Amino acid sequence: MTTVVPVDLAEVSAVPVRLGAKPSAVGAHSAVPTGISTRGPELLPLEAGEQYRFGFSMNACIGCHSCEVACAEQNGLPAGTTWRRVGEIEGGAYPETKRFHLSMSCNHCLEPACLEGCPTNAYEKLANGVVAHHAEDCIGCQYCTWNCPYSVPAFQPDRRIVTKCDLCQPRLAEGLAPACVSACPTHAITIERVDVAAWRADHAEADAPHLPSADITISTTRIELPADVPLETFSASDWNLRPEHPHWPLVWLTLVSQFAVGVSATVDGSGQRIMAAALAMAAMAGALLHLGRPAVAWKAFRNLRRSWLSREVALLSLYGGLAAAAVPLDALRWPAAAAGCAGIYASARLYIVPGRPSWNSPLTVVRFGATAVALGPIVTGHRSIAAAGTAIALIATALNWARLMRTPQQPWWGAVRLELRWFTTATSVRFALGVAGIVTLLAGAPLALSLVLVACCELIGRWLFYVAVVPLNMPGAFWRGAAGTHR
Ligand code: SF4
Ligand code: SF4
Repeated sequence: MTTVVPVDLAEVSAVPVRLGAKPSAVGAHSAVPTGISTRGPELLPLEAGEQYRFGFSMNACIGCHSCEVACAEQNGLPAGTTWRRVGEIEGGAYPETKRFHLSMSCNHCLEPACLEGCPTNAYEKLANGVVAHHAEDCIGCQYCTWNCPYSVPAFQPDRRIVTKCDLCQPRLAEGLAPACVSACPTHAITIERVDVAAWRADHAEADAPHLPSADITISTTRIELPADVPLETFSASDWNLRPEHPHWPLVWLTLVSQFAVGVSATVDGSGQRIMAAALAMAAMAGALLHLGRPAVAWKAFRNLRRSWLSREVALLSLYGGLAAAAVPLDALRWPAAAAGCAGIYASARLYIVPGRPSWNSPLTVVRFGATAVALGPIVTGHRSIAAAGTAIALIATALNWARLMRTPQQPWWGAVRLELRWFTTATSVRFALGVAGIVTLLAGAPLALSLVLVACCELIGRWLFYVAVVPLNMPGAFWRGAAGTHR
């Protein structure tokens, strides 16, 4: 647990760097941003209704990455894990081109989406405003990495959990500024205090070109923009569109649990009830492989009040239990099917987050439900229902493309581009298999053949669901880290 120690600079006399201390001259790049050089030690301690935040001057930043290095060194981060990143924003027409840098870390938001969605309550908004992450409570599900619209939380492979910036709590406790603030040679990064109520009412200064809107989580980082930012800009990382991780255990969980619920909802005999129960349990067992710390998976039940991931785990576990009990007790098959449907709904809802625009639609609920309707009824012999489910799944996918294509920003159109251009073959095969499955179902072909065709169609579709997504993020640099890293 992170312990908050009140910072009282008046009692700290011999520290090398003071919070809010007046910057010293640093040569040619010492242009100190407006309004920052005059801040003195009176910046702290906090008064009622205030919290700490970062300030950043885009004019002062020279893109040297010292803040990234200092952060990594301070927090012992392995290569590939970054809590602070320096992105590039470019614009203008030759010879009047401009390039600016944006150094960002956690924004210690007023409404942190990471905290809201975490199934284990591993996040805590501390009294000083810092959004702290408690490593001992993290199970490494990575849901917070999807929820944060700035892609701040990072899965740290060596610890098998997510980690992120805590505004250097240990340094704050000693009256020291965060490592990034101290390392910046131009004083582009500052630590400030902010009146929470006033910021909640007006947080326009948290917005910058190519940053997700501060409205989503009410980011507290105050950004000073240069006066000469061109009207048309782009993020240097825009060129580097690439697929996301496939999350195979989640492909397995969602597909197999939906298959099971489809069987439970149309079940017609004890053999089929056994199959539904076996599928339900296999789905949950496979999902454990997704967790960085599966041994403490039980902690996922902790946030039923706010997290759709907690609700998914609870409802699909309930479904598995009822499906097993329905094998000897036929009367329980309907309660089992109802719990399974609720579980599918929770499964779909957890993907409906602003941080992932291609998932952020009711069409995700339709697509997940359609998978259950497409697969289960084949096993139970309901051909027309299965054909309808397969058709709905394909139509919902196409409708999602149409929705995304209306927005030109990369997290929207980039997802369509990935699915239709990067993965042209997979998408074409998926649709061909789906159409063939519908034809064989309606033509009375062997059900085993239809099951293979539709199952392969759904498998490719679910894999595409995970890889053809572009997260909201802060602007990135021209180069990008290895696949699997979050920058
Ligand atoms: S920036 Fe992201 S990780 Fe940080 S508090 Fe906001 S939502 Fe959470
Ligand atoms: S339990 Fe999951 S959502 Fe919570 S902090 Fe860990 S990885 Fe993030």
